[in-house]
Amino acid sequence: MRAARRRSHSIASLPGFEEEPSDFAHDAQLSKVAVLFPLPLPEPFDYCAPAAWALQPGDHVIAPLGPRSVRGVVWSVETESANAANLKRIESKAQAAPLPEISRRFVDWMAKYVVTPPGNVLRMVVRSTEALSPSPTYAVYAPTEMMSGAVTPARARVMSEAAKEPGTGADLARRAGVSSSVVKALLETGALTRIDVPEDPPYPAPDLSLPGNALNAQQDAAAEMLKESVRTDAFAPVLLDGITGSGKTEVYLEAIAEALARDPSAQVLVLLPEIALTQAVLARFEQRFGSRPVEWHSAITQKARRRAWREVNEGRARLIAGARSALFLPFRNLRLIVVDEEHDPSYKQDDGVAYQARDLAVARAKLGGCAVVLASATPSLETLVNAQAGKYRHVKLTARHGVAVLPDVELIDLKIHAPDRGRWLSPKLVTAAAEALARGEQALFYMNRRGYAPLTLCRACGHRMQSPDTQSWLVEHKYSGRLVCHLTGFSMPKPKECPTCMAPDSFVAIGPGVERVEEEVRQLFPHARIEIFSSDTAQNGDQVRAIVDRMAQGEIDILIGTQIVAKGHNFPRLTMVGVVDADLGLKGGDLRAGERTYQLLSQVAGRAGRADRPGRALVQTYAPEHDAMIALSKHDRDGFLAAEAAGREAMGMPPYGRLAAVIISGPDEPTVNYAAIVMGEKAPQADGVDVWGPAPAPLSIIRGQHRRRFLVRADRGVDISAFMAAWRERVKLHSSIRLQIDVDPYSFL
Ligand code: ADP
Repeated sequence: MRAARRRSHSIASLPGFEEEPSDFAHDAQLSKVAVLFPLPLPEPFDYCAPAAWALQPGDHVIAPLGPRSVRGVVWSVETESANAANLKRIESKAQAAPLPEISRRFVDWMAKYVVTPPGNVLRMVVRSTEALSPSPTYAVYAPTEMMSGAVTPARARVMSEAAKEPGTGADLARRAGVSSSVVKALLETGALTRIDVPEDPPYPAPDLSLPGNALNAQQDAAAEMLKESVRTDAFAPVLLDGITGSGKTEVYLEAIAEALARDPSAQVLVLLPEIALTQAVLARFEQRFGSRPVEWHSAITQKARRRAWREVNEGRARLIAGARSALFLPFRNLRLIVVDEEHDPSYKQDDGVAYQARDLAVARAKLGGCAVVLASATPSLETLVNAQAGKYRHVKLTARHGVAVLPDVELIDLKIHAPDRGRWLSPKLVTAAAEALARGEQALFYMNRRGYAPLTLCRACGHRMQSPDTQSWLVEHKYSGRLVCHLTGFSMPKPKECPTCMAPDSFVAIGPGVERVEEEVRQLFPHARIEIFSSDTAQNGDQVRAIVDRMAQGEIDILIGTQIVAKGHNFPRLTMVGVVDADLGLKGGDLRAGERTYQLLSQVAGRAGRADRPGRALVQTYAPEHDAMIALSKHDRDGFLAAEAAGREAMGMPPYGRLAAVIISGPDEPTVNYAAIVMGEKAPQADGVDVWGPAPAPLSIIRGQHRRRFLVRADRGVDISAFMAAWRERVKLHSSIRLQIDVDPYSFL
């Protein structure tokens, strides 16, 4: 009892949690309360609390867990419970609004779907403890009518500044050019009064009186359909399928306006794939609604995080734009979710709790009975099949806005038009870029690999520079002079001699990255203004914006970029896109390699000719006969997807079947092998389910962890989540072994 009291005392002083109310009286009515903790525990734990606390499901509480006091969320309450007195007691309760019922249902649903303990999902929901207390405040000082004592010139200056705009003590003193003691004295005489201002004020409300852009007829019809689905106030999924530059953003902005206007408490979430895109799109949101949407992604500060979370939880934040994790915010009245670039691979999280945010967005919309718009120029096969089956409404935009037309796409067969030895650009590509520059236009070379060269080899002994404890080559980065592992982030200076044979200066660079393409482009176009656009040269939103602005303003002649250039940018003077190595993404035998290559390359090609000048895209490939390449050159997306769909259907692969992956990993290879064999033996038998493995993962060692994989394929009607949960239940693994389950995997490495 003593220990418990000491503990609760320290907890009660945590911001946001109330002091413990009077001691539990012996005859007080007790409720039984189940609390879910944001920890990998299998289920909520039971506690008791006085009925007078009136705890509700969703309340944030502190409760003892082992030796600690831990924050959790009330999952259920039984008010008249006979045996509650034997349970441990809840220590305190936060003042914050309870976690909405829909958020709790989403946690339970998702935990089952992705096969993880619900506490792991809750941890993604309760991201900021600070958000549970009201906003911290700071003091500013404003003038009152009272002025007593001597009015010195110093005091008069402070009063005049405070009358212009109240400020903090230091601020007023600085503005008036006096010491802070003058401000203090004025406060003591009552001439100034203190006002507490919240550090995290509510966000400005979206201004719904602003008009949108005038839409063309096709856009208008699409916007009407989207608005109609918002007005149904029920689960209404729509695929907004429009070619690049057709105005999908303009169209969904109108659906957002409709959702916000028809219900003053409605909240809207827009998921965007990457910060690069976020920046460009956010500016357009700001234009449309007079204020920036609330942002949520991994790069926001702790303070922005607590403010956003609190404001969403209180229902005051109305328009939220975020990365995939924004889906877990505690929305009270989410009426519309937009998933922009719904095919984008960044919606899939592979680490920790593995999930596909686009699929979860649809599930969340279904749970909450709200509209959901999936927007893309190159929809995923999953989404297109749903639209064709009539599960999603299919809204199309087939023309670019204004006079812009889709670029001509031409394949360059590298077997015929080979670049010179040690070069990467074929003469055709170089000529096309030179022509664009001669017309005063811009060129883009697309090379989806960072750094200078993907492999560094000793020419004396053949040694390949490899990442330590990881099966991955080190990539040379010339600017930083380092060899970098793109998988783990490990880096080291490029050694002067080979670590194996000690030969000095014996390394050769094999293959190209953006830096190497840049080297070649600089030799070919010595007078051009050339820049690289990759996650190395644009590491944050500001740097991305700066490069995008320079390109849009015509301050760059040739841009050399990785996939960061593919997303949503409008470069009116860009008319030539050259894809240096179109085959990069086809290697590795990934289920979606063709689909993803097609999506990425048509996005990249779509950067050309977005304004009044026609554009062209030249695609270098050794596989011009590949379906993805043919479709690209013929703008035959649907033909490509139909062929892709037929292939997947024949093999029972997604979306015609289900997949789940298991990765078993650990530091000791024999233990990992043994665990994999045991796991394989315990696989349940079920109709319509194939279990393949165990096999060494293609990346069989990462950071010293040996990895073995299983792949499970199931017919569409099979509950693959239940199968995986049953399998996991059957095995007890050594404590050094980690077991990861990935339902609907996108990575097979
Ligand atoms: P998408 O998202 O389909 O690629 P966007 O919405 O980004 O297309 O539109 C492409 C470009 O055309 C943008 O610069 C956008 O501002 C412009 N645009 C599209 N529709 C209109 C319109 N109705 N009025 C004015 N500009 C438009």
